[in-house]
Amino acid sequence: MEGRIEHGFRARFQALASTRGRPDPRAEAERLIAEARAAAPHGMAHTRALVALWEKQASETGSAGVREVDTWEEAVVPRFLCDPSLGGLARWLWAAGFEAEVATGVPGHRLPDEALRHGQLLLTTEAETLDRRIVADGSLRVVWLPSALTMREQLRMLALDLGLRPREPRCMRCGGALVKTAKEAVRNRIPPRTALWKDDYFVCVACDGLFWQGTHWERIARTLAEALLP
Ligand SMILES: [Zn+2]
Repeated sequence: MEGRIEHGFRARFQALASTRGRPDPRAEAERLIAEARAAAPHGMAHTRALVALWEKQASETGSAGVREVDTWEEAVVPRFLCDPSLGGLARWLWAAGFEAEVATGVPGHRLPDEALRHGQLLLTTEAETLDRRIVADGSLRVVWLPSALTMREQLRMLALDLGLRPREPRCMRCGGALVKTAKEAVRNRIPPRTALWKDDYFVCVACDGLFWQGTHWERIARTLAEALLP
């Protein structure tokens, strides 16, 4: 288990060291892994030691990442393909306004090709994916996340990776786009007590779900604000 986690972080540390123009990214990655091992050799404590080291490096670099999303053209805002173990994270990406598909029913080894074909950025908890040829040669962008982390920790890592900032929320049930809708058009679907104090309503174009900015919505927005960049 430690081996696979370290494999994933080795790639992360090397990418960061390259971004920072360090002379020997491989040696830098090994040094950081050894540091995490010295702090905590096994299990969850080891994973957290690696995360802490990575976060420190990433925040010193500005963004770990690839490119800052706010400088991207709208057309190249990333669309995600999530491996099935990241279904929870996909829902939060929807709430943060990103298109994310959960790859249920697609065998794990086919996910990289699937993501490449659809122009998606692959999110995976399988560190082996980083060794695939289309990943190594830069054809496919992959972000590896440790499966042992909580969803919030994964979201935080991903936000640092890519410089993600919140966008207009999408449907948290299915990821569809939300469209602002006249109150009168949906009045019969609004709980009477909600109708008394809310005037703005949104309908999902995909599943027809009805949403408004109530306490649940605000809780989600607060969590996103903590996890994503300001
Ligand atoms: Zn929906």
